[in-house]
Amino acid sequence: MTPKYDAIVIGAGIVGAACARELHQAGMNVVALDAFKVGCGTTGGSMGHVVVMDDSDAQLHLTSLSRDLWKNLAEEHAEAVEYNPCGTIWVAADEEEMEAVHSKARNYLDHDISVQVLDASSLYSLEPNLREDLKGGLRVVDDCVIYPPYSSRLLLEGIELRENSRVTRILPHQIQLEDGTTLESDIVINACGAAAPQITPELPIQPRKGHLVITDRYPEFCRHQLVELGYLKSAHKMEKESVAFNIQPRLSGQYLVGSSREFAGWDDGVNRSVLGRMLSRACHYMPKLKDLMALRSWTGFRPATPDKLPLIGQWPQVAGLYIAAGHEGLGITSSLGTARLLADEILGRKPAIDPAPYRATRILENPPE
Ligand SMILES: Cc1cc2nc3c(=O)[nH]c(=O)nc-3n(C[C@H](O)[C@H](O)[C@H](O)COP(=O)(O)OP(=O)(O)OC[C@H]3O[C@@H](n4cnc5c(N)ncnc54)[C@H](O)[C@@H]3O)c2cc1C
Repeated sequence: MTPKYDAIVIGAGIVGAACARELHQAGMNVVALDAFKVGCGTTGGSMGHVVVMDDSDAQLHLTSLSRDLWKNLAEEHAEAVEYNPCGTIWVAADEEEMEAVHSKARNYLDHDISVQVLDASSLYSLEPNLREDLKGGLRVVDDCVIYPPYSSRLLLEGIELRENSRVTRILPHQIQLEDGTTLESDIVINACGAAAPQITPELPIQPRKGHLVITDRYPEFCRHQLVELGYLKSAHKMEKESVAFNIQPRLSGQYLVGSSREFAGWDDGVNRSVLGRMLSRACHYMPKLKDLMALRSWTGFRPATPDKLPLIGQWPQVAGLYIAAGHEGLGITSSLGTARLLADEILGRKPAIDPAPYRATRILENPPE
């Protein structure tokens, strides 16, 4: 007999895992499927920085809701998710960036986000390994770090999981697997990240490649997630290639160093030229980084949408289908807020925040050129 579920979640990355958990907690009979393993897609190759971003009001509302949800979950399961409440410091290199620090601080404070403007001497007392001519920074106190693959597993606890189960087709209230099996469900959620268009071809999501490097253990070399203010330009502009300084302390005493953005299709090879530029940029901000031993580098694919916001909600082209994909460089952060909004829509609850800016159907109304 064909199994019948209330909801099938396709994709067990952080977004699918969060959606499965939210619906399971609401009492639904949920199964999560993945073509490979839990967290083996972009989630497994990411940094795990849970960060409030204010590129737009919509981004700020979703990341702020999500960060609050992460704080609650991570404080309760600190060890399981490798929770590090280190905060973020946005580093200002010149007076123009210091102006940006002040305007960002005003915006955050207007939204009750706790921040501290740092002058140069306070910045160096917190992070003595930064280069000497910086002007200051903005400390976002409650940003934190989690370990995404373990967090995805935690979110899926108690939920039926089918790994090595690739979905090849989504039909009304039904999916087909590669091995010919058919599963039925009232609701199907496409949470396949950058691969979401492979089974919902109209979705305008492109893989945006990024590199990371992990170092050996050097406890206390850096204590906060440090990001240059120029990162915002790099993330925002849809340039073919860009790099920005971004470093993260792991609880192990290691450091993750990023970041790069590149449109290179699905080529997952390390691009030595981009990697070289990324590391030079990092050493420009933290000259002593060049004395640290790098252990490994890898790439991952951010699921990028044309308007830089995720696609969350019903997809009326196929009965029963919902989308939760397209989170670009903020999917770890935004996963819990996405799941909350999706469940609010499915269950007819009052939405936690205005869902309109993220509705998947916006791209049917205004298709990308
Ligand atoms: C270098 C880098 C650093 C990053 N750092 C951060 C960060 O610090 N903070 C942050 O918030 N975000 C960060 N991101 C972004 C974040 O990693 C992504 O937005 C997020 O992981 C997307 O999660 P997802 O669940 O949508 O996709 P994925 O993690 O890719 O999960 C999709 C899953 O779907 C499965 N799948 C695909 N097709 C099928 C199919 N047909 N059938 C069944 N299963 C299928 C895949 O196997 C995969 O497991 C970073 C990204 C990169 C590349």
